[in-house]
Amino acid sequence: MLNFFRRTKKQAPKPNRINEHSLRTQLTDANALNVIKVLNANGFQAYLVGGCVRDALCGVKPKDFDVATDAPLEAVSKLFRRSRIVGRRFPIVHVRFGRDLIEVSTFRQSISDKVVHDDRGMILRDNAFGELHEDAFRRDFTTNALYYDPSNDEIIDFVDGIKDIKQKRLRFIGNTRTRLAEDPVRLLRAMRFSAKLGFAIDPEILRYAKESANSLEAVSPARLFDEFIKLFLNGYAEVVWRQLRETPLANALFPCCDPNSPLVLAAMRNTDERILGGASVTPGFLVAVLLWDDFCARSHDQATLEDDPAFATLKHQQSRIAVPRRFGTFAREVWLIQERLHKRNPRSLVRLTSHKRFRAGYDFLCLQAESDELMVPIADWWSEFQSADESQRRALIAQLPKAPRKRRRNRSRRKPTESAPEESS
Ligand code: ATP
Ligand code: MG
Repeated sequence: MLNFFRRTKKQAPKPNRINEHSLRTQLTDANALNVIKVLNANGFQAYLVGGCVRDALCGVKPKDFDVATDAPLEAVSKLFRRSRIVGRRFPIVHVRFGRDLIEVSTFRQSISDKVVHDDRGMILRDNAFGELHEDAFRRDFTTNALYYDPSNDEIIDFVDGIKDIKQKRLRFIGNTRTRLAEDPVRLLRAMRFSAKLGFAIDPEILRYAKESANSLEAVSPARLFDEFIKLFLNGYAEVVWRQLRETPLANALFPCCDPNSPLVLAAMRNTDERILGGASVTPGFLVAVLLWDDFCARSHDQATLEDDPAFATLKHQQSRIAVPRRFGTFAREVWLIQERLHKRNPRSLVRLTSHKRFRAGYDFLCLQAESDELMVPIADWWSEFQSADESQRRALIAQLPKAPRKRRRNRSRRKPTESAPEESS
């Protein structure tokens, strides 16, 4: 296996060079091409690589552009005014053009003393620079290791990536188990690319799903939040979720979520529809959905009643995925407004409709109603209430079940000798 990577300069493998394709008309991003032009003009090799080449070959519009070069990171950074070196594990250069970002990485190799592993084989830091062919072999999937050279319109393929794109399959470069041990997030990436492009995942990869799911524990929760966004906020969340729940990954990411929850599936579908329709989406809403059952259990469990069940639910999840505070707060507000939506106190209905989480809370309720018929009358009631005029609203309020009246304690009847009990809240 190691020999697979251990190639000396003399033994550098010969890549396939492909000239018949239509990438020139698809990879037209002016900023990415400009980065390559500047690097070439300064004597460096530079290619488009990764997702943009893969997606364009599949006829999908690339999401972003990655450039690989033999220029050291510092040299890249000096050539572009609005650029900076980012990342500790895998440093790269971010080159900014307005709101656009081009990620430039220096060729790396995966077998070197400079690649630091933990005792499970997971890569902790990778600062081993190398040559083009070494850079190809350190990448994850064959389909992600294709280089496009805009200067001569050529695709460079060391790993039979073109063949795998044609056959629509995701296969690791090198030994599957080793590649997953180096980085278990690669399994999540397999799920994502498979959902996005309709590619089949090599069964060899799925054989290690359990092992890799366990290893996710060692991955930083901040990185897993980034992956969470990529998995669920790109328009194919439903397919991703269906795949994840077939493996131990769903449980590894969200230990307190029932993978078969119909609410979660409905929310994933709804998120995709919103993205397709150009509506806004927030990770906070999905966090609210994924952790709803846990929040309810903590709220109702009288035996272990917690001060703030929402806080406890979010805190528990943080050990896996570091949900930024603003999204956690969003989820908490969506949970807390549910009770008010159910109660429908006539005196605060109008105020409630102008609550900043009313819309999200109402959407949440409607999603619940898709799989829980007990929720249907309440969701319908709110739908009608929002579009009703004054007199219709009065009629809707009159339909509400009367809340049981609270009995007032009559202080004057208390025996004068009885000591007053403490106010309960
Ligand atoms: P997309 O941008 O659509 O999410 P991508 O394949 O471009 O897909 P990036 O995260 O942008 O994904 O990474 C760019 C390239 O860097 C990948 O195509 C792959 O070649 C390499 N790469 C990224 N993450 C890894 C990883 N964990 N292990 C090995 N190679 C990786
Ligand atoms: Mg990319």
